[in-house]
Amino acid sequence: MTDFSKLAIHTFTHKPWNLEDCIRHFENAGVPAMSLWRNLVDPAEGGIGLNEAVKRVKNSSLSIPALVRGGFFPGKTEDTRQEAIDLNRQYVDEAQALGADMVVLVVGAVPGMPLSEARKQVQDGIAAVADHAEQAGVQLAIEPLHPMYAGDKSCINRMQEAREICEALQHPMVGIAADVYHIWWDPEVENELRLSAEQNTLFGFHICDWRLNTRHMLRDRGLMGDGCIDVKGFMDLVESLGFQGYHEVEVFSEEYWGWDQNQYLNLILERYQALV
Ligand code: ZN
Repeated sequence: MTDFSKLAIHTFTHKPWNLEDCIRHFENAGVPAMSLWRNLVDPAEGGIGLNEAVKRVKNSSLSIPALVRGGFFPGKTEDTRQEAIDLNRQYVDEAQALGADMVVLVVGAVPGMPLSEARKQVQDGIAAVADHAEQAGVQLAIEPLHPMYAGDKSCINRMQEAREICEALQHPMVGIAADVYHIWWDPEVENELRLSAEQNTLFGFHICDWRLNTRHMLRDRGLMGDGCIDVKGFMDLVESLGFQGYHEVEVFSEEYWGWDQNQYLNLILERYQALV
């Protein structure tokens, strides 16, 4: 029997499904956890609203490792930076209400702003949210993004830059979400994962795959087994480092979004089975 106890699926992986669909199908399939994207919650993005979402999540059997996503701290003016801080505090409150362990931070970048300056602003932004997160019991997980997103999505592109912020802040609620899609190519990745585990900052672990012929920077990820990442090697490594969290399947793919989503869920389970 396959052990699915560490499997989590990001709701955005099944973009065609609403929150109710995700809960029902994940429960039926024996998936114990899902990371919740805010588009299913926030009415401004077509979601059902926080109170409804909380009700449905609490009535389900699913654990919520992460609310996705906060961040986007750098801004050209003090006002925009403060807005980002306020928003992230709100996301922390939402995560607390939903029972989510962490808020994943896609930290942001501003075209034309030096990455070093953006990283400073990210550090200041996280510092301004961290105590609020601690009071709420919610972790803040910095997700390094592949350098192809350095222009406007993330000035943090390797585990190292995320670690440097964790080390500077020394805050128990500030850590890292390691996504194999973004970090598999980094020659220091094994060492950095080891350091993160030692420093108790390895909060999240996302799995998917890098397709050799990527057709779109955002919406053409592979499912584990579709590409060239040694996902099994990463899973074994984080386990050997004592990581106890979920293996969160996070795939944005126009191709798979076009599939029958139940058939796709079966394929996810099949690919996951091959790894555990
Ligand atoms: Zn991720």
